[in-house]
Amino acid sequence: MKPELSVVIPVYNEEAGLAKLFERLYPALDTLAARGVSYEVVFVNDGSRDNTAVILSDQFRLRPDVTRVVLFNGNYGQHMAILAGFEATRGDIVVTLDADLQNPPEEIGALVDKMREGYDYVGSIRRKRQDSAWRTYASKAMNRFREKITRIKITDQGNMLRAYGRNVIDLINQCSEVNTFVPALAYTFSRKPTEIIVEHEERSAGESKYSIYSLIRLNFDLMTGFSIMPLQWFSMLGMILSVLSGGLVGLLLIRRFIFGAEAEGLFTLFAIAFFMMGVILFGIGLLGEYVGRIYQQVRGRPRYVVQTILQDVSIDQPQSD
Ligand code: UDP
Ligand code: MG
Repeated sequence: MKPELSVVIPVYNEEAGLAKLFERLYPALDTLAARGVSYEVVFVNDGSRDNTAVILSDQFRLRPDVTRVVLFNGNYGQHMAILAGFEATRGDIVVTLDADLQNPPEEIGALVDKMREGYDYVGSIRRKRQDSAWRTYASKAMNRFREKITRIKITDQGNMLRAYGRNVIDLINQCSEVNTFVPALAYTFSRKPTEIIVEHEERSAGESKYSIYSLIRLNFDLMTGFSIMPLQWFSMLGMILSVLSGGLVGLLLIRRFIFGAEAEGLFTLFAIAFFMMGVILFGIGLLGEYVGRIYQQVRGRPRYVVQTILQDVSIDQPQSD
């Protein structure tokens, strides 16, 4: 008895907003069920340090028929939580959603309708983004940059309200990538992707779990995890710079013989040297990004550790990583 729809929700320190989420999520899904879409909800507790785990277990006891809870033993990040959720899903359509009600649960129906038209990936674009101005702006800029260096066409990358087909989910479950970005990974596997426009709301309670640092990290993962173009650009830049600096050395040498030793322009030289050092340091850092990914990958440690899965006894225990 498999449900048609699985909803995956990563949850990290969201005790303040979960009650509101349940209040809107379950009625929205029950409306869908009345239309003939059977569903299950898979919550993944990403090692919350507040009361989240208890609240989720209570909810499981209230609706054990349609609720499952995966409990991590630590904090592995939003995307790892979603991947663990994927492994627990059984539906043909899998929808991901944030726990903070920024993605209205009432929009799930629209995603399901679109999936039923035969798409295997339905992304969504926020009609009016309810985030701080700098985040909206920075995210738009990163979106454009990412589109240039990866072949992934996602209009609104920061938005997790998306639907994936079973074929895509099965392929994702076979991957063992660390530090990945789920919508991009899914996009690379989809045969027929599309996007729809959805509403976006302000966070219902609590605060964003993303600091500027983790946002930068996320974008590095997105670039280096899906494209080696930054490395290739870097070799091109290195080539151009060495040709230019070769020319500069030649020019200085000629001047040395024509005009003799000269000290003018020393600071220009310094400027050039410092600029080059900056470029070199950035290049080493970029190399490090890839080396780090390779390191994590070859170590082959479990990407996350599932402590328990709360689910109805009649459901087979799914494979976990
Ligand atoms: N989240 C998670 N693990 C983390 C950080 C976030 O599972 O380490 C969850 C969080 O509970 C929420 C979703 O991921 O359901 C998006 O997080 P948030 O709303 O803080 O991000 P933002 O909307 O600010 O991008
Ligand atoms: Mg949010």
